Amino acid sequence: MPIPVPKANRLLDLLSLKGKVVVITGASGARGMGIEAARGCAEMGADLAITYASRPEGGEKNAKELAAEYGVKVKAYKCDVGSWDSVSGFVNDVIKDFGKIDAFIANAGRTADSGILDGSVEAWQEVIQTDLTGVFHCAKAVGHHFKERGTGSFVITASMSGHIANFPQEQTSYNVAKAGTIHMARSLANEWRDFARVNSISPGYIDTGLSDFVAQDVQDLWNSMIPMGRNGDAKELKGAYVYLVSDASTYMTGTDMLIDGGYTVR
Ligand code: NDP
Repeated sequence: MPIPVPKANRLLDLLSLKGKVVVITGASGARGMGIEAARGCAEMGADLAITYASRPEGGEKNAKELAAEYGVKVKAYKCDVGSWDSVSGFVNDVIKDFGKIDAFIANAGRTADSGILDGSVEAWQEVIQTDLTGVFHCAKAVGHHFKERGTGSFVITASMSGHIANFPQEQTSYNVAKAGTIHMARSLANEWRDFARVNSISPGYIDTGLSDFVAQDVQDLWNSMIPMGRNGDAKELKGAYVYLVSDASTYMTGTDMLIDGGYTVR
């Protein structure tokens, strides 16, 4: 059975997430993609299960603030996406606590600066384990639930680095992992075509905790290469996350949304 056309006609009704449960991994930052996606979904009425890995205080604080500001149910969970046991246990806990999952945003990720020649085997494995295998763990853990319910939206935070090899940094492991997630979205869209949609978002350079380590001369170089002349703010992406998890995008699957200030048009 194909995923049906939604009953609602008005755009605000299609975008509404009232009554939906959205999972967002990697939402422990104060200004990252995870917390902004969470703000967007909470604004539109969704209840949220968000995760942290090494920053429990960030995850708990975000959960408390989101619940207070938007009047929705929000719970923070510890989850290491690199571990199957951790992800499957977390997803089971969410289904127990919330009763269901309507959408899953696989956002958690990490980066490491190391090329093939200088980087260690361990550094390679860690990035692939978190950024690529982590998304596989999330999809495998929630996929059966989506199939049983006959509905679901799975959204992956990929990266512009999955399309281009960002310069001058040597981040081959990260680039490869993110390219893999973009193709995972396409492949899963096909695999899950009868019951769930799968899409990815590829942010360009966004000012979040993850990008704080970038040296000023590298940042200046990037600004000269970004047609819009600046980094993005994560709040400029939250509408895209809401759109992809909502019924406003029910005919969209297997697609990657590049949001990069035009970096990749050159
Ligand atoms: P943040 O630091 O805000 O987010 C990273 C999140 O991932 C944190 O919540 C962190 O949890 C979590 N995380 C890291 N490792 C693990 C793990 N093993 N298991 C579970 N969670 C983990 O930075 P961003 O918002 O920048 O990053 C979010 C996503 O956006 C990432 O996938 C990143 O690759 C991607 N991205 C970022 C870009 C940028 O310019 N900032 C550009 C393109 C893509 P904790 O802190 O609790 O350890």
